[in-house]
Parts: sequence; C-alpha cells; structure tokens
Amino acid sequence: MTADVTAGQGAEYADTASEAYRAALRVIESVEPRIAEATRKELDDQRNSLKLIASENYASPAVLLTMGTWFSDKYAEGTVGHRFYAACQNVDTVEALAAEHARELFGAPYAYAQPHSGIDANLVAYWAILATRIEAPGLAELGAKHINDLSEADWEGLRNKLGNQRLMGMSLDTGGHLTHGFRPNISGKMFHQRQYGTNPETGFIDYDAVAAQVREFKPLVLVAGYSAYPRRVNFAKMREIADEVGATFMVDMAHFAGLVAGKVFTGDEDPVPHAHVVTTTTHKSLRGPRGGLVLATEEYAPAVDKGCPMVLGGPLSHVMAAKAVALAEARRPEFRTYAQAVADNAQSLADGFVKRDAGLVTGGTDNHLVLLDVTSFGLTGRQAESALLDSGIVTNRNAIPADPNGAWYTSGIRFGTPALTTRGFGADDFDRVAELVVEVLQNTQPAAGPNGPSKAKYTMADGTADRVRAAAAELLDANPLYPGLTL
Ligand SMILES: *Cc1c(COP(=O)(O)O)cnc(C)c1O
Repeated sequence: MTADVTAGQGAEYADTASEAYRAALRVIESVEPRIAEATRKELDDQRNSLKLIASENYASPAVLLTMGTWFSDKYAEGTVGHRFYAACQNVDTVEALAAEHARELFGAPYAYAQPHSGIDANLVAYWAILATRIEAPGLAELGAKHINDLSEADWEGLRNKLGNQRLMGMSLDTGGHLTHGFRPNISGKMFHQRQYGTNPETGFIDYDAVAAQVREFKPLVLVAGYSAYPRRVNFAKMREIADEVGATFMVDMAHFAGLVAGKVFTGDEDPVPHAHVVTTTTHKSLRGPRGGLVLATEEYAPAVDKGCPMVLGGPLSHVMAAKAVALAEARRPEFRTYAQAVADNAQSLADGFVKRDAGLVTGGTDNHLVLLDVTSFGLTGRQAESALLDSGIVTNRNAIPADPNGAWYTSGIRFGTPALTTRGFGADDFDRVAELVVEVLQNTQPAAGPNGPSKAKYTMADGTADRVRAAAAELLDANPLYPGLTL
C-alpha cells in the first residue's frame, strides 16, 4: 500500500468521520430505518468487492460529507453574482471556488460548475456551441439583439437552422459515448450525425481516416473522448482536423479527467489547450461527487455561462460545494501520484492478461482502462460479467469493435483501475487481479440452450467462485476502503 496514493482518503481523520457517519445514520434511522440499513450495507458491499468498473471511484469522506448539507435546500438559478433568486451569497462563494479550482487545476480560461452530470455538461456544451456558431450570427444577420425580439417567422427560420447542424463523434462500438451522436440519445436527434471508428486491424484511432471523413461530412462540431477506448488520443491532431473544416472541437474527458488533472496526459494528450470546449464528469477518475463540469475558451464562455436557463434549472449547490472540495484535493501533489498509479496499474493489469493469453482490444492500454475480448474464452460479455460477479469481481460487459454478439450480450468486459487504486492497490495486486479474472473465465462455460450454446446462461467449475472470492478478500483486506471508518 502506498501512503501517497491513499492520502486524503480519510485515514488521518477516520475517528471524526466515523462519529459523523454514526450520528448521521442515527438521524436517518429515526425516520426511515430501511434507508439507514441500505446505506450501511452499501458500504459493506463496496468494501467487500473488487470494483473494476472503469467509470467508478471512491470519493473521500470530505467530499461525501460536503454533499449532506443545507446547501441542498437553496435555489440559485443564474451565475455567480447574477442570480434570479435572493440570498445566494454563500452559493456564490461555493460556485466561484469550484470554478476557480477547476480553472487552476486544468489551466482553462473559464469553468462552469453547474451541470448535474456528464450528460448535462454535454448538453450545455452542444447548445453553447450552437448559440455561439449559429444563433449569435443569425441574430446579427437579422439585426436583432435578442431572440425574444424576432418575429415568429424569423424565429422559425433560426430554429430550423439550429436544428439542422452536423456533429461527428466516435462510434459507440469503438468506445465512444451515447451522447456523441448515438441516435437513441438526444445528441443523435438534435444533430445530423456521423461517426468515426477505429482501424479494424489495430483497434487504434486512424487520424487520416478521421480527417477524410471530416473533410467529406464537414461537421459543425467534432467530438473526441470515449468511455471504452483503451488508448490515448492526440488532441492536437484532432484540433488540426477540426480546423481544416472550421469545426468546433469539443473533448468529453468524462472518463480520463483524473489523468489530465494528475498530469499523466500532457502536451498533445491534454485536451484543454487544444479544444474549444471540454466537458467532464467529476465522479470518475477525478474522484469527486457525481456531477459535471464544462471548460471553455473565452469565445465560448459567455454561452456556456448561460447553461441555466438554456439547459439547466437550479444548480445542485451542495454538489458544487463537494466539487470544490474534490478539485482542491486534485490540486494536491498526492493526486499526481494517484493518477500515475492509475495508469501504471492499468498497464500491469493489461500485461497480466496478455501474459495469460487473454485477448485485449488494441492489445493493451495506455490509459486507465482495459477492454478484454472474452471470445478468447468462448464466452459472451454477459456470461463473463455474471461469472465474475459470482466470484466477487464487479465489472461491466461492453461491446467491442464490430461486436459479433451485439450491444446487449456483447463480447467484451471493461476493466478500470481508478477505484482500486484509490484503495491502495499496486502493480502486483493488479497482476493478481488479472490472474483471478482469467481463473474465473477459464472455468466458465456457456450453458447448452435449445438452439446451441446460450448467450446468457453459463456454468462454472465447482469451487471456482468460492476460491476466487477468498483470494479477492485477501487483496481487499490488505487495501481497506476508508481505513479506520467504522459505523
Ligand atoms: C460517463 C460519461 C458521460 C455521462 O456521464 P453521466 O454523469 O452518467 O451523465 C458522458 N460522456 C462520457 C464520455 C462518459 O464516459
């Protein structure tokens, strides 16, 4: 266990945090004991499973406690110093601090701390881009100052223009996110969209192919960022591609914001200096509360700042307070140690799979996630996910490029290192995790179905789940979650 990595996770104030949680649970218990019980059980479950879900983490007790206050009760529509509600002076302090920490941490000219989630952040960003690129010039052309001044006919014309723009993002099956133009998501309905993928042979982004598609389609918005692509992206190159056709370049760093904050991704791999707009969640590798952030250049800042009323209602002031605390943590030197460990551990996990002959999409990783192709075990993602869960290993199934089993059963399992790294897991521990995963999958087989092997049902060799559970418990005991915290 590396002291540096777990610093800030509460060991140094565990007694105080324990008292706080015990008292809080007694209060909750007096109203709805079943919620107090579920809350206790959730900590137990999180402590006792190998959490390898790439989008999850463990926020510090300081971050968690910050969310449970009366800031939850305050309405504060508007922006700092400019609210549609009275008595927002303390929310102003909170939001200004969250934005300041975000600007300083990421080196961004402007930060917006209000989005409730990653999806909200992307919606704010998309509409800010449309407002800047389409609405403002449209208004100027019509000689109007505000959309409320337009005639019905002029507004209808402008609305049609806003609804008829093009977006290009990474396809879902190669690791992109549903908010990057996937038809069932609102992003695929509000934009005319096309998607770029990865090279079918290597699994890597092929920048020349992306450039050719962009030249042909000429999107207004080019989006980079991913949820399940195990490699780094050259954002300088992507910006050049966007510039060629005058596209706004947006990066959704929801998954890897912690690696940007921790200076693992620098230069061409740091999206902030290259993108016009950057969005993120705050609860994944960044290790904060559930929420979103938008960073922007001066050009897009005024439109992003109107996220409310454009997309959002009242901000979650208690969550903005927790974002400020988490971002303050991420500005400490320990967070860089943590972020580097997240990347090193992913490397170790990938190496552990490769040396045991398990197939990986792209053959490895250079970020925080690993995508295992479970067809090498003769399984679907659904079967592998369930068998691992039976053995105390929490992952999620995920499509792989050109997935033969489709988006429901899938052929992949996605693993991420941010959560277990927070517990103090090191490179050797992750090699052991790879060994346990392989042990489970080698001992799992598709069950027979009426028309051949089932895609969902499976059988496991006797004793496998218990054996792996016991081995996992050893790793978990050696790296406790919230050390010293007792309820
Ligand atoms: C997780 C994720 C989101 C969505 O975040 P939510 O907070 O769940 O809305 C958006 N974009 C990417 C790339 C993500 O990985």
